[in-house]
This record gives sequence, C-alpha cells and structure tokens, in this order.
Amino acid sequence: DVEVLYHNAYTACELHADDSDHKITFFDEEMKRQRLWERKVEDDMERALAAKEFKVYLQPKISASEEKLAGAEALVRWIHPQEGFIPPNKFIPIFESNGFILKLDDYMLEEVARQQAEWIAQERTIVPISVNVSRAHFTREDLAEHICEIVDRYKVPHSCIELELTESAFFDDKKVLLQTVKKLRDNGFLVSMDDFGAGYSSLNSLKELKIDVLKIDADFFRNVEEVERGMLIVSEVIDLAKKLDMKIVAEGIESRDQVDFLVQQECDLIQGYFFAKPMPVEEFVEKYKQ
Ligand code: C2E
Ligand code: CA
Ligand code: CA
Repeated sequence: DVEVLYHNAYTACELHADDSDHKITFFDEEMKRQRLWERKVEDDMERALAAKEFKVYLQPKISASEEKLAGAEALVRWIHPQEGFIPPNKFIPIFESNGFILKLDDYMLEEVARQQAEWIAQERTIVPISVNVSRAHFTREDLAEHICEIVDRYKVPHSCIELELTESAFFDDKKVLLQTVKKLRDNGFLVSMDDFGAGYSSLNSLKELKIDVLKIDADFFRNVEEVERGMLIVSEVIDLAKKLDMKIVAEGIESRDQVDFLVQQECDLIQGYFFAKPMPVEEFVEKYKQ
C-alpha cells in the first residue's frame, strides 16, 4: 500500500543521502534489515555501555628492526549477550552518525588509562597504547583538556597514551584540530595520523599538522597489479616522514614479504595479522609478558 511504498522510498533515500553517485536508488530488503539493525543498536547502546559489553581488544605494534613489542592499538569489540561478538564496522558508523561515538571513545580511553595504571602498579614494562579519536570530537574546543582530565584520573604518564586521528577531521574545523593536536603534544601525549594515504589524504595537511606518527595503510600493497607503484609510494612516504621527524607505522601487514620490504625501508613499527590479530587484554598479557 501507499504507506509502505512511501516508507520504503524514504528508507532508500536516507541510506543514500550523502552519496552523490546514487542519483537514482532502489529500495531492497537489505536496506530494511540495515534500518532495523540501526534501530536495535540505538535502543541498546546505552545499556550496553553501562553493562560494560564494549571490550578493549589490543593489537600489537612490533618494532621492524628488532621484531619486539613496541606498542599496541586499542580496538573496540561489542560482546553482546544475545548477538555474540559484534565487530566495530557493525556499530561504529551508527555511533558516528548519532553522536554516541563520543561516549564510546571516552570509555575506551578511560579503560586504556585504567589498564596502564594497573600495569604500572604491578611494575610491568609498559608500551604506549593508542586509542582512536573519531572526527566527531573535534567540534569541542576543550577536547585536549577533556582528554587530560580522563587520563589524569588514573595518574598515568601521558606518554603511555597515543591518540589516533584521521585526516578527515581536517575538513571540519581546522582551527580546533590544529589547536587540539598542539595542546595534546605540549601535554606529552603522542599523536598519530591514522589511515594516511586512504581516502582524501593530502600532503598539505602534513604541512600544518605537526604530529608524532604516521600510520600508512597496507591498501598500498593490496591491488596486485599496482603493487610496484604502491611499494614505491610507501618507500617515499617513509622517507618523507623521517625528514619531517615522524615515526611510521605500517598497518594491515599480512605477509613476510611485506615485513621484509618494510624493514629494508626502515619503517619503524609494523601492525598486522602477520604478527597478531587484535586480542582480548588477558591474551595480550599472556603473549607478551616477557
Ligand atoms: P582502524 O583504526 O584503521 O583499525 C585498524 C583495523 O585494521 C582494525 O579493524 C584491525 O583489526 C584491522 N587490521 C589489523 N591488521 C590487519 C591485517 O593484517 N589485515 C586486515 N585485513 N586487517 C587488519 P577493526 O578492529 O575491525 O576496526 C575497524 C575500524 O573501526 C578501525 O579502523 C577504526 O576506524 C574503528 N574503530 C575500532 N575501534 C574504535 C574505537 O574505539 N573508537 C573509534 N572511534 N573507532 C574505532
Ligand atoms: Ca586506528
Ligand atoms: Ca588505520
């Protein structure tokens, strides 16, 4: 009936609202499932956060020269009582559009600070752990103070926390981004640029944005026909980063060949399935306790 047709058309429009490639779009049942999933996630997210269903998984970053643990990235997983294990691509985009990502990122940062404090108290050697900071945070001018406040609750040195931001934040409010990054670095935090080279990266952002670490994506290696060109770009980016006094992390590294190439190019750190997938904190401790 007309009402159903209208709703379906509306759903299709909404799902492709920002997508200029879709001048015409057709409704299908998958869109309906997507909408239902979104609603379910939205109805459930506050409860899940309070119930601590969002878990920190850690993926090691390995030093290329020594093949030793040198850092880790905190990646969220939702362990749902009915749905089971939910990967971030099923809920992060939803949280990014409804604003809940702000709460989730704060929670992850707090969990990481708490974990570092616990390891420091146990006199373990710690490595910097990075958290992802969604671009949505860069609308608040007191973001750096806010981050300090969360970390300082646990009295951990700022140098053991790294903040990963994507270049896309550059396109929102450049002023807030530049100020925040400066304040964070002045306060001793490490700041890295995530997904460099994926999407809309521009070399120009490196001119204004002084950061500690550049994370390049293994997308450069993925398309088999263009591997040679990808390697050339990676090698030049590593060179450039060194001249700009930044460290390089290569991400998504899956093979020994890629590792060998990166070692030869004097890449600093390597993160990827070749060394380890993201894992629960207990497993991380077990694997790297030496
Ligand atoms: P990201 O920040 O670029 O994280 C790296 C992603 O690459 C992770 O996916 C990781 O599991 C995956 N990865 C690592 N090594 C390999 C590899 O060798 N091969 C392949 N194919 N993939 C590899 P994950 O954990 O599914 O996270 C996806 C994205 O979700 C992240 O991309 C990040 O943008 C977002 N995300 C995850 N946790 C958080 C969070 O707490 N806050 C925010 N704002 N975003 C998060
Ligand atoms: Ca990241
Ligand atoms: Ca990344």
